Amino acid sequence: MKGKIAEVFESIQGEGLYLGERQIFVRFFGCNLSCQFCDTKLNRFIEYEAEELFEKIKLYQKGFHSISFTGGEPLLQKDYLREVLKLTSSQGYKNYLETNGTLPAELSDVIGYLDIVAMDLKLPSSTGAGHFWDEHRRFLEIASSKEVFLKLVICEATEEEDLRQGLRLIKEINQAAILVLQPNSLENDGRLIDKLRKFKDISRTENINCRIIPQMHKIAGIR
Ligand code: SF4
Repeated sequence: MKGKIAEVFESIQGEGLYLGERQIFVRFFGCNLSCQFCDTKLNRFIEYEAEELFEKIKLYQKGFHSISFTGGEPLLQKDYLREVLKLTSSQGYKNYLETNGTLPAELSDVIGYLDIVAMDLKLPSSTGAGHFWDEHRRFLEIASSKEVFLKLVICEATEEEDLRQGLRLIKEINQAAILVLQPNSLENDGRLIDKLRKFKDISRTENINCRIIPQMHKIAGIR
């Protein structure tokens, strides 16, 4: 079975709780969503057998934190992803999944091979792409059998009620999960700071451990 992979590269994680860790990034082609703030418009891919991709990963110098399976949405190719994860985990590599959190059935097929799940909550007022509360609920239930943190992209258009809905969901399923508020990089020129502060205060009031973390790779000019 071949997978469609947009790129494989080594870099420093630029967002979320593992900011600053060296990772190998495997970017899967294709996504099931179309967020208005998306910065990953992919139009090319290379096809690899799982073994071929694994051989490519093994060429990188050891000592990196983990392999980041990112996209697009990696779970769209879950059978292929599972084959790759089997290979990497059997050799002791740590598997880190970056996902939009909308495909719970697919997650359940690979969760056994994952170490860390970096899960988005897609707020309708941020993405302009409808709501996924039911999918997110089921997804977080499954992801919570492993280490998981959540990420919300905050835009000028993000509504407080969407944040509150996300907080209710986290409280209900996994209150210990850390929430990252990530300012939309296209609007990260200071205009979001009041909203970020307010949303962090609301999160604290709701007893959710929340951090504001911008996309550092864009600020630092790292790939
Ligand atoms: S889920 Fe991620 S990759 Fe897909 S459209 Fe949204 S921001 Fe882009």
